[in-house]
Amino acid sequence: MAKTDNNKLGINPRLISQITGRDLAEIPVKPDISMLPGSYARKVARRINKIAMEFPENKHYLTCTICGHTARYNLGSVFFEPGAVFKDKVFDSDTSWLTNIQATGYFRCINCNSAGAWELAQKGSHSFIFGMFAGLMNNYADINGGSFQIGVIQLADGSRPRWSTDSEEYYLKKLADHPQDGYLWDRLGNCYYKGGRPDLATVAYEQSVKVDPGQLESHFSLGSILSEIDMDAEAVHHLRQVLILARRYEKLSAPALRDMLTETLHLLVMISKDEGEFLSFLHAAEEVYWREDKPVLRNPVIKIMDISIDSSDPLTLRPLAECFMGKRCRELNSDTGKSRQTKTRRRKKRKR
Ligand SMILES: [Zn+2]
Repeated sequence: MAKTDNNKLGINPRLISQITGRDLAEIPVKPDISMLPGSYARKVARRINKIAMEFPENKHYLTCTICGHTARYNLGSVFFEPGAVFKDKVFDSDTSWLTNIQATGYFRCINCNSAGAWELAQKGSHSFIFGMFAGLMNNYADINGGSFQIGVIQLADGSRPRWSTDSEEYYLKKLADHPQDGYLWDRLGNCYYKGGRPDLATVAYEQSVKVDPGQLESHFSLGSILSEIDMDAEAVHHLRQVLILARRYEKLSAPALRDMLTETLHLLVMISKDEGEFLSFLHAAEEVYWREDKPVLRNPVIKIMDISIDSSDPLTLRPLAECFMGKRCRELNSDTGKSRQTKTRRRKKRKR
Protein backbone atom coordinates (compact mmCIF):
# COMPACT_ATOMS: atom_id res chain seq x y z
CA MET A 1 0.00 0.00 0.00
CA ALA A 2 1.22 3.46 -0.81
CA LYS A 3 2.32 5.54 2.14
CA THR A 4 -0.24 8.10 3.21
CA ASP A 5 1.02 11.62 3.73
CA ASN A 6 -0.62 12.64 7.01
CA ASN A 7 -0.40 16.32 6.13
CA LYS A 8 -2.73 15.71 3.21
CA LEU A 9 -5.47 14.03 5.21
CA GLY A 10 -8.38 16.47 5.05
CA ILE A 11 -10.28 17.20 8.25
CA ASN A 12 -13.61 19.00 8.52
CA PRO A 13 -13.26 21.93 10.97
CA ARG A 14 -16.91 21.40 11.93
CA LEU A 15 -16.11 17.97 13.38
CA ILE A 16 -13.61 19.57 15.76
CA SER A 17 -15.98 22.43 16.55
CA GLN A 18 -18.90 20.12 17.37
CA ILE A 19 -16.88 17.93 19.71
CA THR A 20 -14.82 20.59 21.46
CA GLY A 21 -17.52 23.27 21.54
CA ARG A 22 -15.03 25.75 20.11
CA ASP A 23 -16.34 28.39 17.75
CA LEU A 24 -15.86 27.41 14.11
CA ALA A 25 -14.20 30.79 13.48
CA GLU A 26 -11.39 29.84 15.91
CA ILE A 27 -10.53 26.66 14.03
CA PRO A 28 -8.17 26.81 11.02
CA VAL A 29 -9.74 26.22 7.61
CA LYS A 30 -7.29 23.33 7.18
CA PRO A 31 -6.89 21.68 10.60
CA ASP A 32 -4.07 19.17 10.98
CA ILE A 33 -4.11 15.86 12.83
CA SER A 34 -2.65 17.41 15.98
CA MET A 35 -6.00 19.16 16.44
CA LEU A 36 -8.11 15.99 16.40
CA PRO A 37 -10.02 15.57 19.66
CA GLY A 38 -9.94 12.40 21.77
CA SER A 39 -7.09 10.28 23.02
CA TYR A 40 -6.68 7.83 20.12
CA ALA A 41 -7.11 9.64 16.81
CA ARG A 42 -3.62 11.13 16.55
CA LYS A 43 -2.03 7.73 17.22
CA VAL A 44 -4.31 6.09 14.65
CA ALA A 45 -3.47 8.79 12.08
CA ARG A 46 0.25 8.21 12.56
CA ARG A 47 -0.16 4.48 11.89
CA ILE A 48 -2.97 4.65 9.38
CA ASN A 49 -1.09 2.53 6.86
CA LYS A 50 -1.22 -0.44 9.25
CA ILE A 51 -5.01 -0.53 9.28
CA ALA A 52 -6.96 -2.70 6.84
CA MET A 53 -9.38 -0.66 4.77
CA GLU A 54 -12.93 -1.64 3.94
CA PHE A 55 -12.46 -0.88 0.24
CA PRO A 56 -9.41 -1.15 -2.04
CA GLU A 57 -7.52 1.95 -3.06
CA ASN A 58 -9.10 3.51 -6.14
CA LYS A 59 -7.30 6.75 -6.99
CA HIS A 60 -8.33 9.15 -9.74
CA TYR A 61 -7.58 12.73 -10.74
CA LEU A 62 -10.25 15.20 -9.72
CA THR A 63 -10.39 18.97 -10.03
CA CYS A 64 -11.81 21.08 -7.22
CA THR A 65 -14.21 23.56 -8.81
CA ILE A 66 -13.83 25.92 -5.84
CA CYS A 67 -10.11 26.57 -6.24
CA GLY A 68 -9.24 24.83 -9.52
CA HIS A 69 -6.62 22.54 -7.98
CA THR A 70 -6.24 19.07 -9.53
CA ALA A 71 -4.94 16.11 -7.53
CA ARG A 72 -5.37 12.37 -7.15
CA TYR A 73 -7.90 11.22 -4.58
CA ASN A 74 -8.89 7.81 -3.29
CA LEU A 75 -12.52 7.41 -4.29
CA GLY A 76 -12.84 4.07 -2.49
CA SER A 77 -15.70 2.09 -3.96
CA VAL A 78 -17.60 3.88 -6.73
CA PHE A 79 -21.29 2.98 -7.02
CA PHE A 80 -23.34 3.76 -10.10
CA GLU A 81 -26.58 2.91 -11.82
CA PRO A 82 -26.05 1.81 -15.43
CA GLY A 83 -29.31 3.46 -16.56
CA ALA A 84 -28.11 6.84 -15.39
CA VAL A 85 -24.67 6.57 -16.94
CA PHE A 86 -25.25 4.57 -20.10
CA LYS A 87 -28.19 5.29 -22.36
CA ASP A 88 -29.31 2.77 -25.00
CA LYS A 89 -26.22 0.74 -24.23
CA VAL A 90 -23.88 3.44 -25.49
CA PHE A 91 -21.96 6.14 -23.74
CA ASP A 92 -24.01 9.17 -22.98
CA SER A 93 -21.41 11.71 -23.99
CA ASP A 94 -23.48 14.56 -22.55
CA THR A 95 -23.44 13.06 -19.11
CA SER A 96 -20.85 14.36 -16.79
CA TRP A 97 -19.42 11.18 -15.35
CA LEU A 98 -19.28 12.34 -11.79
CA THR A 99 -22.89 13.51 -11.55
CA ASN A 100 -24.18 9.95 -11.59
CA ILE A 101 -21.82 8.21 -9.26
CA GLN A 102 -21.50 7.81 -5.51
CA ALA A 103 -18.14 7.22 -3.86
CA THR A 104 -17.32 5.83 -0.41
CA GLY A 105 -13.86 7.41 -0.08
CA TYR A 106 -13.48 10.35 2.32
CA PHE A 107 -11.37 13.13 0.85
CA ARG A 108 -11.21 16.91 0.80
CA CYS A 109 -9.36 19.28 -1.55
CA ILE A 110 -5.69 19.20 -0.57
CA ASN A 111 -5.41 22.86 -1.55
CA CYS A 112 -8.50 24.57 -0.05
CA ASN A 113 -9.99 21.75 2.11
CA SER A 114 -13.44 22.17 0.57
CA ALA A 115 -15.41 19.05 -0.26
CA GLY A 116 -17.92 17.81 -2.77
CA ALA A 117 -17.31 20.25 -5.63
CA TRP A 118 -15.51 17.95 -8.03
CA GLU A 119 -14.95 17.55 -11.73
CA LEU A 120 -13.27 14.61 -13.37
CA ALA A 121 -9.88 15.91 -14.47
CA GLN A 122 -8.89 15.40 -18.10
CA LYS A 123 -5.68 13.86 -16.86
CA GLY A 124 -6.25 10.15 -16.27
CA SER A 125 -9.98 10.26 -17.04
CA HIS A 126 -9.64 7.20 -19.29
CA SER A 127 -8.81 5.03 -16.26
CA PHE A 128 -11.98 6.19 -14.53
CA ILE A 129 -14.14 5.48 -17.58
CA PHE A 130 -12.45 2.12 -18.07
CA GLY A 131 -13.21 1.29 -14.44
CA MET A 132 -16.88 2.12 -14.95
CA PHE A 133 -17.00 -0.28 -17.90
CA ALA A 134 -15.19 -2.97 -15.96
CA GLY A 135 -17.70 -2.49 -13.13
CA LEU A 136 -20.58 -2.88 -15.57
CA MET A 137 -19.12 -6.00 -17.17
CA ASN A 138 -18.09 -7.61 -13.91
CA ASN A 139 -21.20 -6.76 -11.98
CA TYR A 140 -21.47 -10.11 -10.34
CA ALA A 141 -17.91 -11.26 -10.75
CA ASP A 142 -16.21 -8.78 -8.43
CA ILE A 143 -13.12 -8.94 -10.61
CA ASN A 144 -12.11 -5.35 -9.93
CA GLY A 145 -12.19 -5.91 -6.18
CA GLY A 146 -15.19 -3.65 -5.65
CA SER A 147 -13.60 -0.45 -6.99
CA PHE A 148 -16.59 0.12 -9.29
CA GLN A 149 -19.92 -1.40 -8.41
CA ILE A 150 -23.46 -1.22 -9.68
CA GLY A 151 -25.71 -0.06 -6.88
CA VAL A 152 -26.90 2.80 -4.73
CA ILE A 153 -25.81 4.18 -1.35
CA GLN A 154 -28.79 5.44 0.61
CA LEU A 155 -28.98 7.18 3.99
CA ALA A 156 -31.66 6.59 6.62
CA ASP A 157 -33.81 9.44 5.27
CA GLY A 158 -33.69 8.02 1.73
CA SER A 159 -31.23 10.62 0.42
CA ARG A 160 -28.34 9.51 -1.76
CA PRO A 161 -25.02 11.10 -0.84
CA ARG A 162 -22.69 11.53 -3.79
CA TRP A 163 -19.60 11.83 -1.65
CA SER A 164 -18.62 10.56 1.76
CA THR A 165 -18.34 14.21 2.82
CA ASP A 166 -22.08 14.57 2.02
CA SER A 167 -22.85 11.72 4.45
CA GLU A 168 -20.59 13.43 6.98
CA GLU A 169 -22.56 16.68 6.61
CA TYR A 170 -25.82 14.76 7.03
CA TYR A 171 -24.69 13.28 10.35
CA LEU A 172 -23.01 16.45 11.63
CA LYS A 173 -26.23 18.34 10.99
CA LYS A 174 -28.26 15.76 12.91
CA LEU A 175 -25.67 15.74 15.70
CA ALA A 176 -25.89 19.53 16.06
CA ASP A 177 -29.47 18.94 17.27
CA HIS A 178 -28.75 15.67 19.11
CA PRO A 179 -25.17 15.85 20.40
CA GLN A 180 -25.82 13.17 23.04
CA ASP A 181 -26.94 10.53 20.53
CA GLY A 182 -24.23 7.86 20.59
CA TYR A 183 -25.84 5.93 17.76
CA LEU A 184 -25.53 8.94 15.41
CA TRP A 185 -21.88 9.39 16.39
CA ASP A 186 -21.39 5.69 15.65
CA ARG A 187 -22.93 6.07 12.17
CA LEU A 188 -20.67 9.06 11.51
CA GLY A 189 -17.73 6.89 12.60
CA ASN A 190 -18.78 4.18 10.15
CA CYS A 191 -18.96 6.75 7.36
CA TYR A 192 -15.34 7.78 8.06
CA TYR A 193 -14.21 4.18 8.46
CA LYS A 194 -15.75 3.13 5.14
CA GLY A 195 -14.20 6.26 3.65
CA GLY A 196 -10.73 4.96 4.49
CA ARG A 197 -10.24 7.33 7.45
CA PRO A 198 -9.98 5.24 10.63
CA ASP A 199 -8.41 8.26 12.38
CA LEU A 200 -11.58 10.33 11.97
CA ALA A 201 -13.68 7.25 12.68
CA THR A 202 -11.90 6.92 16.02
CA VAL A 203 -12.78 10.53 16.87
CA ALA A 204 -16.48 9.84 16.26
CA TYR A 205 -16.48 6.45 18.03
CA GLU A 206 -14.73 7.91 21.06
CA GLN A 207 -17.28 10.71 21.24
CA SER A 208 -20.00 8.08 20.85
CA VAL A 209 -18.95 6.12 23.95
CA LYS A 210 -18.32 9.36 25.82
CA VAL A 211 -21.93 10.52 25.41
CA ASP A 212 -23.34 6.97 25.59
CA PRO A 213 -21.11 4.43 27.37
CA GLY A 214 -23.59 1.72 26.31
CA GLN A 215 -22.88 2.18 22.58
CA LEU A 216 -21.67 -1.36 21.97
CA GLU A 217 -20.94 -0.98 18.25
CA SER A 218 -18.57 1.94 18.88
CA HIS A 219 -16.75 -0.04 21.57
CA PHE A 220 -16.37 -2.88 19.08
CA SER A 221 -15.04 -0.58 16.36
CA LEU A 222 -12.58 1.09 18.74
CA GLY A 223 -11.36 -2.30 19.99
CA SER A 224 -10.99 -3.52 16.45
CA ILE A 225 -9.08 -0.48 15.14
CA LEU A 226 -6.83 -0.16 18.21
CA SER A 227 -5.93 -3.86 18.08
CA GLU A 228 -4.60 -3.31 14.58
CA ILE A 229 -2.10 -0.70 15.73
CA ASP A 230 -1.01 -2.80 18.71
CA MET A 231 -2.70 -0.65 21.35
CA ASP A 232 -3.65 -3.87 23.08
CA ALA A 233 -4.57 -2.63 26.57
CA GLU A 234 -6.91 0.00 25.11
CA ALA A 235 -8.35 -2.51 22.62
CA VAL A 236 -9.06 -5.03 25.39
CA HIS A 237 -10.80 -2.35 27.44
CA HIS A 238 -13.27 -1.63 24.62
CA LEU A 239 -13.71 -5.27 23.56
CA ARG A 240 -14.59 -6.22 27.13
CA GLN A 241 -17.24 -3.50 27.12
CA VAL A 242 -18.81 -5.29 24.14
CA LEU A 243 -19.07 -8.48 26.20
CA ILE A 244 -20.51 -6.61 29.17
CA LEU A 245 -23.07 -4.60 27.21
CA ALA A 246 -24.26 -7.29 24.78
CA ARG A 247 -27.26 -8.65 26.63
CA ARG A 248 -28.84 -5.19 26.89
CA TYR A 249 -27.99 -3.88 23.45
CA GLU A 250 -31.08 -3.62 21.24
CA LYS A 251 -29.84 -1.91 18.09
CA LEU A 252 -28.55 -5.08 16.44
CA SER A 253 -30.52 -8.16 15.45
CA ALA A 254 -29.67 -11.24 17.50
CA PRO A 255 -27.66 -12.90 14.69
CA ALA A 256 -25.73 -9.67 14.03
CA LEU A 257 -25.07 -9.25 17.74
CA ARG A 258 -23.76 -12.80 17.93
CA ASP A 259 -21.51 -12.16 14.91
CA MET A 260 -20.09 -9.05 16.60
CA LEU A 261 -19.53 -10.95 19.84
CA THR A 262 -17.86 -13.79 17.95
CA GLU A 263 -15.51 -11.33 16.26
CA THR A 264 -14.90 -9.62 19.62
CA LEU A 265 -13.87 -12.92 21.19
CA HIS A 266 -11.70 -13.69 18.18
CA LEU A 267 -9.90 -10.37 18.54
CA LEU A 268 -9.36 -11.11 22.26
CA VAL A 269 -7.93 -14.53 21.36
CA MET A 270 -5.56 -12.87 18.88
CA ILE A 271 -4.46 -10.26 21.43
CA SER A 272 -4.01 -12.64 24.36
CA LYS A 273 -0.62 -14.21 24.95
CA ASP A 274 -2.14 -17.53 26.04
CA GLU A 275 -5.34 -19.21 27.17
CA GLY A 276 -4.91 -17.93 30.72
CA GLU A 277 -4.83 -14.34 29.61
CA PHE A 278 -7.84 -14.87 27.35
CA LEU A 279 -9.78 -16.27 30.32
CA SER A 280 -8.73 -13.33 32.44
CA PHE A 281 -10.35 -10.99 29.88
CA LEU A 282 -13.60 -12.92 30.26
CA HIS A 283 -13.36 -13.03 34.05
CA ALA A 284 -13.05 -9.28 34.10
CA ALA A 285 -16.31 -9.06 32.16
CA GLU A 286 -17.91 -11.53 34.56
CA GLU A 287 -17.11 -9.36 37.57
CA VAL A 288 -19.29 -6.62 36.16
CA TYR A 289 -22.16 -9.07 35.79
CA TRP A 290 -21.90 -9.94 39.44
CA ARG A 291 -21.93 -6.33 40.43
CA GLU A 292 -25.17 -5.94 38.50
CA ASP A 293 -26.51 -8.77 40.70
CA LYS A 294 -27.88 -10.73 37.80
CA PRO A 295 -25.01 -12.81 36.52
CA VAL A 296 -25.52 -14.19 33.06
CA LEU A 297 -22.17 -15.85 32.60
CA ARG A 298 -22.34 -17.98 35.72
CA ASN A 299 -19.25 -19.99 35.25
CA PRO A 300 -17.26 -19.07 32.17
CA VAL A 301 -14.46 -21.50 32.92
CA ILE A 302 -16.71 -24.53 32.81
CA LYS A 303 -18.40 -23.30 29.66
CA ILE A 304 -15.08 -22.72 27.97
CA MET A 305 -13.84 -26.15 28.99
CA ASP A 306 -16.71 -27.62 26.99
CA ILE A 307 -15.86 -25.64 23.89
CA SER A 308 -13.04 -26.41 21.52
CA ILE A 309 -11.55 -23.14 20.29
CA ASP A 310 -9.54 -23.00 17.09
CA SER A 311 -8.05 -19.51 16.82
CA SER A 312 -7.91 -19.82 13.02
CA ASP A 313 -11.65 -20.49 12.88
CA PRO A 314 -13.67 -17.73 14.61
CA LEU A 315 -16.87 -19.77 14.26
CA THR A 316 -15.64 -22.11 16.99
CA LEU A 317 -16.10 -19.12 19.32
CA ARG A 318 -19.76 -18.78 18.47
CA PRO A 319 -21.12 -20.93 21.35
CA LEU A 320 -19.08 -18.83 23.76
CA ALA A 321 -20.41 -15.65 22.12
CA GLU A 322 -23.94 -16.81 22.85
CA CYS A 323 -23.08 -17.01 26.58
CA PHE A 324 -22.85 -13.22 26.60
CA MET A 325 -26.24 -12.62 24.96
CA GLY A 326 -28.45 -13.40 27.94
CA LYS A 327 -32.10 -13.70 27.00
CA ARG A 328 -31.42 -12.41 23.52
CA CYS A 329 -30.19 -15.92 22.69
CA ARG A 330 -33.83 -16.94 22.41
CA GLU A 331 -34.20 -14.72 19.36
CA LEU A 332 -31.68 -16.81 17.44
CA ASN A 333 -32.94 -19.36 14.96
CA SER A 334 -32.21 -22.94 15.80
CA ASP A 335 -30.52 -23.06 12.40
CA THR A 336 -27.48 -21.16 13.56
CA GLY A 337 -25.10 -22.22 10.85
CA LYS A 338 -26.41 -19.91 8.17
CA SER A 339 -25.82 -16.55 9.81
CA ARG A 340 -23.49 -14.39 7.81
CA GLN A 341 -20.96 -11.95 9.14
CA THR A 342 -22.75 -8.86 8.03
CA LYS A 343 -21.93 -6.33 10.71
CA THR A 344 -18.47 -7.38 11.64
CA ARG A 345 -15.41 -6.31 9.80
CA ARG A 346 -12.83 -8.42 8.16
CA ARG A 347 -9.48 -7.29 9.29
CA LYS A 348 -5.92 -8.33 8.92
CA LYS A 349 -5.21 -10.64 11.77
CA ARG A 350 -1.93 -10.54 13.54
CA LYS A 351 -0.09 -13.80 13.80
CA ARG A 352 1.41 -14.75 17.08
ZN1 LIG B 1 -10.01 23.36 -3.66
